[in-house]
Amino acid sequence: AATDTILSLNNIEVIYDHVILVLKGVSLTVPRKGIVAILGANGAGKTTTLKAISNLLKAERGEVTKGSIVFDGERVDKMSPSELVRRGCIQVMEGRHCFGHLSIEENLLTGAFTRRDGNAAIKRDLEKIYELFPRLKQRRNSQAGYTSGGEQQMCAIGRAMMSKPKMILLDEPSMGLAPQIVEEIFEIVRRLNDKEDVSFLVAEQNTNMALRYATYGYIMETGRVVMDGEAKMLRENEDVKEFYLGVA
Ligand code: ATP
Repeated sequence: AATDTILSLNNIEVIYDHVILVLKGVSLTVPRKGIVAILGANGAGKTTTLKAISNLLKAERGEVTKGSIVFDGERVDKMSPSELVRRGCIQVMEGRHCFGHLSIEENLLTGAFTRRDGNAAIKRDLEKIYELFPRLKQRRNSQAGYTSGGEQQMCAIGRAMMSKPKMILLDEPSMGLAPQIVEEIFEIVRRLNDKEDVSFLVAEQNTNMALRYATYGYIMETGRVVMDGEAKMLRENEDVKEFYLGVA
């Protein structure tokens, strides 16, 4: 059943290596077609939160030990990453993670691996990605490892789009990119949200940029949500300005 909420986390606890309690009861919701930001300093638990949703913690000896996660009306806490992708929830990891030795186009095509709707549909969607990302079209035959950081971030997002997601979990898209490129990336996020109805949960240290594009934000500190609210409210909040926006 389609409700107004696409994702909700209820009191999620994550432990690494059986003893290190890193998420201490995180709750958050993402409205359908929303753009929601998770903000906070390095180490606050943003990446862990995204990986808890997409079930990518096992490789790091992490485990969700409490709470529940509902995506698109269904409990997903025990689902494998690829089952989640098939249901429409995909993560774009921090650091972009393109296959450096493959071309941009080959990278995009790897994003279609969970699909069962045939080559014609995949080809059509590839063309759509090229419309949305003209830069990727120009660079389609370039080896990804030799493209710019911004192009690799676009490639990672474009590859995620090839799975036909309802929701993208986007980890630190601004990392290592010049401000103008970061702006370009967030404009793409806005366009995908607007034109393709993709919901976004974006983890960002760049509070300023994230709050310009998100409608709602959660601020994390040491494994807890310490504040949340409409992006506009957070941008004007004195504590947020002082601690996260660098303007006292
Ligand atoms: P970043 O901006 O670096 O991604 P973050 O807010 O996403 O920061 P996390 O990466 O989720 O934070 O880390 C949260 C806490 O969990 C940190 O204290 C970190 O040291 C710890 N941590 C992360 N991964 C592991 C792991 N595999 N084993 C033990 N502790 C970990």
